Amino acid sequence: MDFETSAILLPPGCYLNHSCDPNAMRSGVKVFAWRSIRPGEEITIDYRLNASSGQRSTCLCGSVNCSGEIISDFFSIEAARQIRYLPYAPDFIRREYRRRLKPAPGLGGRLRPEASSPD
Ligand SMILES: [Zn+2]
Repeated sequence: MDFETSAILLPPGCYLNHSCDPNAMRSGVKVFAWRSIRPGEEITIDYRLNASSGQRSTCLCGSVNCSGEIISDFFSIEAARQIRYLPYAPDFIRREYRRRLKPAPGLGGRLRPEASSPD
């Protein structure tokens, strides 16, 4: 395991399964509801929050937005979800997110197209 690209899930997060549309969020050793959780519903978190290794594995979560494959990379998550997840992401993910927002050389100080907001 590379500690520059993956965070260790500590209890209780390490006991929870992944979902591409999770009902809980993990931040450090805290786990809290991310949306309403029905009685008897499995509590799930999104493993992609904690990694940028790019490792691929099959996903059987069954969420509407599930592609059938987990890419262990925060930056593989849809942009809008990245923004919502970011406050709970490990430091190395937040640093990389900020690095990607910096102006690209040669663009006259403008942000990279994928990081700019609509005018
Ligand atoms: Zn899935």
